[in-house]
Amino acid sequence: DGVEFSRVCVSRSVMVLVNPQSGRGQAMSLYTGPVLSMLTEANISHTLITTEHQNHARELVRNADLSQWSAIVILSGDGLLFEVINGLMEREDWDEAIRTPLGILPGGSGNALAASVHHYTQAGPALGEDLLLSCCFLLCKGLVCPLDIVSVRLSSGPRLFSFLSLAWGFVADVDIESERFRHVGAMRFLVGTLLRLASLRTYQGRLAFLPAREDSKSSSISSSPASHPRSLFCPSVQCISHVQRQNSNQHECTSENTRHNSNSDDFLLSEKLPGNLLSPIGDPVPTDWTIEKEQDFVLVLATCHSHLAEELMVSPDAQPDDGHLHLLYVTAGISRPALLRLFLAMEKGTHLTCECPHLIYRRVRALRLEPITKPGVITVDGEQVEYGPIQAQVHKGYARIICG
Ligand code: ADP
Ligand code: MG
Repeated sequence: DGVEFSRVCVSRSVMVLVNPQSGRGQAMSLYTGPVLSMLTEANISHTLITTEHQNHARELVRNADLSQWSAIVILSGDGLLFEVINGLMEREDWDEAIRTPLGILPGGSGNALAASVHHYTQAGPALGEDLLLSCCFLLCKGLVCPLDIVSVRLSSGPRLFSFLSLAWGFVADVDIESERFRHVGAMRFLVGTLLRLASLRTYQGRLAFLPAREDSKSSSISSSPASHPRSLFCPSVQCISHVQRQNSNQHECTSENTRHNSNSDDFLLSEKLPGNLLSPIGDPVPTDWTIEKEQDFVLVLATCHSHLAEELMVSPDAQPDDGHLHLLYVTAGISRPALLRLFLAMEKGTHLTCECPHLIYRRVRALRLEPITKPGVITVDGEQVEYGPIQAQVHKGYARIICG
């Protein structure tokens, strides 16, 4: 069925979703400028759809005939991709739908995935228009890689799907409080961070997690065919996966429409991506989990990707399909200057070598967070969600991203 996938791909169109309100409201001019000219030059047929309101993209992909589209590309911030992923997962055919190749072009104020996708190419840092050109170039190359998806359970029951982050405390507060500075673009996070530092507070709660398997450091060097990028537009192209590139070994691209490794114990498909690593929120966590003592935190952050913003490399070693949530938390007692130093170090991703005793970094497969401090803010992929106990579990390589 691989051949058929490739043949269908080149004859189908790419859906390009543009949120004209994202960032400083410049996404449409980015489309009519560099994006359109690169797609035209690369001969990639596409259809432009501008989103008209919140949840427009979510409703659109929930009801779309996906057989018409070779990929869905988002020219916006991370918020629009969050909508698209949740829209795909709300479909009856979610298992097929979530494997639609997704592409990201930075047009918002929070472009974490775009910055991460660029970082995975191992090219030097790129910001603003350079980042856009890099991502657009990757889109034209059309290599498709597996992408981890996180299922998130809120206390009142609903399940959300995340591709990026779960945050509580400092980072979540900055994300939401800085919305009012969105006219300054990505700078809004810097302004928000400085303001929050001035009124630094702590957040009491409980945290527990399931550590990544001992062998999981090497798990990204997987022999699963899903780890090999495939070309969307030119299926016969020779390509190098991010893993093999590290080994300087070329590998011929498999254009096979690979199903997920359903043998993996991460997947039980009888229920939609079931939380089989999670016990109900009122029950104790499973015995193989690590339980942190109840304490005061400054921030708790779990990410799937290297970057949380264009200039914030929170987890330098993350890979798009490593099957890990990269959990960082900062405990109370850290001084303002030390916290500021951590954030400044995150620009280059050197904070983990700062030997700050208040900063803890763990690779995990699932986590539970129970805030005690009220009220407060929790964000998933930068979007505010219901405040209260929350659990998350990563599903390795479940979606697809145009990457590398
Ligand atoms: P940014 O990084 O600038 O926040 P996002 O992609 O995260 O950009 O978009 C922010 C929000 O804008 C998303 O939650 C999305 O639902 C919403 N949105 C999409 N289209 C529109 C529109 N036409 N008008 C207002 N909001 C929109
Ligand atoms: Mg956003």
